[in-house]
Amino acid sequence: MQTIPTVSADYISRSQHRQSSAHADLWNLLDQVRDPEIPVLSIWDLGVLQDIRVEEEGIAVVITPTYSGCPAMTEIRQAILDLLEPEYPGKVSVKIQLAPAWTTDWMSPEGKEQLRDYGIAPPNEAAQSPCCPRCGSPDTAMVSEFGSTACKAFYKCRSCSEPFDYFKCI
Ligand SMILES: [Zn+2]
Repeated sequence: MQTIPTVSADYISRSQHRQSSAHADLWNLLDQVRDPEIPVLSIWDLGVLQDIRVEEEGIAVVITPTYSGCPAMTEIRQAILDLLEPEYPGKVSVKIQLAPAWTTDWMSPEGKEQLRDYGIAPPNEAAQSPCCPRCGSPDTAMVSEFGSTACKAFYKCRSCSEPFDYFKCI
């Protein structure tokens, strides 16, 4: 049985901010920028994309790294510039915002579904241990506190024996 991901208040306010922006075209365009570590997730779905400010001097894209020193940020920054620069040459800047710190609450519900389809158990505060992304069984055991990256733990399903990464709640 699959649990339905809960929608956090933080995500609702992010979503309202995006919807109230007069620059929907830019937000939609930036959905093409993916997390280099988990390419199924856009920087929006991951909760990294915070704001797009269109000012007289140009466009400022505000992002928050998933954790400080996250190596993917350099790639994400470059991907944003590569996408916007052709249309707005010399007018695009990427700002890194460290506070408030990124939290898994900022992930979109769609992003959590995409994570599961990709084989990574999405962050789930309610569950004591994550459900297996392959068979949905809650009978899983942690193998190691650290998975393929620091923000993930490594689990194994006791029902179907599938090893999988769990995206830890932050
Ligand atoms: Zn399983």
